[in-house]
Amino acid sequence: MLLLAISGLAILGLVFLAAIWAGSESDAAALDRQRHLVNDRLEDLVKRVSQEIQMIGAGYASFLAADPAVLEEKIIGPNRGSGASSAETFGKIATTAFGYNAAFLVTSSGELALNADAETARRFKWVRPLLQPLIHDLETDQPQPSTSAAKPSRVQLMRLEGRPSVAGVVSIKGASPAGAHEHGQGAQFYLVVFRFLDGATLDTISREQGLAGARYARTADQEHNEVAFQIAATGSGEPIGFIIWEPDLPGSRVIGRLVPVLSIAGLIIAGLFFALMGRLRKSLRELSASEHHARHLSVHDVLTGLPNRALFAVHLVQCLPDLAPLRRRAVIALIDLDKFKEVNDSYGHAAGDELLRAAVGRMSALIKPGDTLSRFGGDEFALLLPDLDEADNVYLAICNGIIDELSKPFQLNTGDAAVRIGCSIGIVVIQDASHPTNELLRRADVALYEAKSSGRGRLVEYDPCLDHRVEARENLKNDLRLLLEQTGEDPGLQVRPSAAHVGRLEVYYQGVYHGDGSGRLSGAEALVRWHHPTLGLLSPDKFIPIAEESGMILRLGEWVLRDAAQSAASWPAALSLSVNVSPSQIRHRGFESHVLSILSEAGLRPSRLELELTEAALFDIDERGQATLGVLRSHGIRIALDDFGTGFSSLSHLIQFNIDRIKIDRSFVSLLGTKAEGAAIVSAILGLSRTLGKATTAEGIETEGQKDFLVAAGCSDLQGYLLSRPVPLSEFRKKIDGVQVAEDRATMNVAAQTVSA
Ligand code: C2E
Ligand code: CA
Ligand code: CA
Repeated sequence: MLLLAISGLAILGLVFLAAIWAGSESDAAALDRQRHLVNDRLEDLVKRVSQEIQMIGAGYASFLAADPAVLEEKIIGPNRGSGASSAETFGKIATTAFGYNAAFLVTSSGELALNADAETARRFKWVRPLLQPLIHDLETDQPQPSTSAAKPSRVQLMRLEGRPSVAGVVSIKGASPAGAHEHGQGAQFYLVVFRFLDGATLDTISREQGLAGARYARTADQEHNEVAFQIAATGSGEPIGFIIWEPDLPGSRVIGRLVPVLSIAGLIIAGLFFALMGRLRKSLRELSASEHHARHLSVHDVLTGLPNRALFAVHLVQCLPDLAPLRRRAVIALIDLDKFKEVNDSYGHAAGDELLRAAVGRMSALIKPGDTLSRFGGDEFALLLPDLDEADNVYLAICNGIIDELSKPFQLNTGDAAVRIGCSIGIVVIQDASHPTNELLRRADVALYEAKSSGRGRLVEYDPCLDHRVEARENLKNDLRLLLEQTGEDPGLQVRPSAAHVGRLEVYYQGVYHGDGSGRLSGAEALVRWHHPTLGLLSPDKFIPIAEESGMILRLGEWVLRDAAQSAASWPAALSLSVNVSPSQIRHRGFESHVLSILSEAGLRPSRLELELTEAALFDIDERGQATLGVLRSHGIRIALDDFGTGFSSLSHLIQFNIDRIKIDRSFVSLLGTKAEGAAIVSAILGLSRTLGKATTAEGIETEGQKDFLVAAGCSDLQGYLLSRPVPLSEFRKKIDGVQVAEDRATMNVAAQTVSA
């Protein structure tokens, strides 16, 4: 664009220069022509004067010849002045008829030949010295062929009376009647005339030649728009003065007309250029702004405006080299929000976003400039404290502050909800630059994992022994994978001796009893166990989360369901079977058909099966999951909400998913008899369930007091170590038989009493 504009302006400039050049050339030519014209006119004048003075001279000569007395008496005689009228007549011929400014008849001695008035005499006296050379010139040139008709004459441009003039002298031979006079036959006179070139003559010239404002000046004092033509004396070439006029300059005229046009064109080009430049600059500005924005976005989180993982890593790398030399420390804290997902799911993403921003606000208030709070994605944040004193444990205060702040309720505008979340924090303290950033982040992650798995709402500082736990976890994961692979469809069977020994799975059953306090079994909950060759009997808490994380829960869950269904099929028909189900199982396509085919294979009526889902699992369920549950319920399978009260205890979920049973978490049951509010909470849950028409099971009953309270409060079913621990199938069968025996005995007693009566 710049090139285009420069080219445009250059072309315009060339056109302009060419126009100026052409204009000045044509001006020079015009000026030259005008000067020539003036010069020609002056030459014409000189010529005309020389012709005219011939004529006037001839007239004088004949006049003198006709009346020599005039000459005698009025010119030379003693009584000068008496023939004034005749002399004036001569003068007038020259001045009025021919337009000369003065005419004198002069003797060869340079005297006025005719009488003259005082004014004429005075004028002659003034001009005489100037004209004398002319006369003298004529005199010395005298011997001329008298045969020639032409009289000797001289015409010359000169300055007379201070004005530019053309002066002419013609010699006149005076005729004497006496024939011999003292002046002799050839008494010699000279007629001297002159005409001023300025005034009327100059007006005529300028009119004829079109010289605007022509004037005479003794010096070349022309204005900038005028030219001066020097008049030089014809004879001597002596400067007389200048004719000054405003020349007609066609070139300048053209330039004068072109200049505005070209200027406008130039202005337009320049304007266009600047407009384009302005736009270009604007778009460049916008471009760089959007580039800046893009760069900012690429290293920042859009929602919270916090630096992202990449920028966090940059800050981390920058702080490492100074630590050891300056004896400083840095700390990375990985912060993971608890229950964020629940808020997101129950109140929507807008509420989730608002919660994240509010959480960031609270965290930011606790850190100082120079610290980096970063969002790694989802509900995971990282805090870098890059410059701490070696002995400074302020990071613990900051992290505990964050835990405290985030555990306080958040009042959300979206959904007008007050929510409680919390967070877990994994910390790594850095002393030097000996570890790469990904190792440091891994360590923080290990600590965070430990914080989360050890109860949440905690902070855990990295310790190398944590790595052993991670390693142990990894080993357990591999063992579980091997176990599920080796044992195929039946991990409960002893694996082939040749295979690596990773133990076996077994389902334990915990009896569930009627809530009427009669001690009758209503069913059992299937709880999986792992007999590990080195670790012993593993409870599900040790390996279910690993199975969930690694996707192995699908096969594991299926195996438990099949095993339990097969076992339960041989139980009395009044006993129901509860099986725990993970969210990913519900989400899995075809789950419902799997369940139904397992039940039909095992020969267990669907109405005897109850699937237990935690609230977190319900939150994870999408529309397809809901449809799955719908299908299962339509076949008579019941759905129980496990661990009620520990998750998000949302009434809307109870209604939305058409839950059949609420399992009151053992954390509430354990409050019974220890804390006053325990009874209130449990009563409230029971009241709620009754209102909604849901069955209830109280979990974790360990004392008679708890049992009695729950029986009195009308809980549908009871479960807990007090009544029965989870036991292997063989033992559970004994319980069934025992109960049945007891029942049978009771029946027999009633019959005997009736008979005796
Ligand atoms: P859960 O569903 O809440 O099961 C009840 C847990 O509480 C069982 O632990 C049980 O042994 C324990 N328990 C029962 N009564 C008492 C009591 O009076 N006091 C105390 N302190 N504890 C009691 P367990 O067997 O270790 O199971 C832990 C969790 O593992 C279960 O919690 C369940 O969520 C999960 N789980 C067990 N088996 C499976 C399974 O096959 N699939 C899935 N997805 N999860 C399972
Ligand atoms: Ca359960
Ligand atoms: Ca439970």
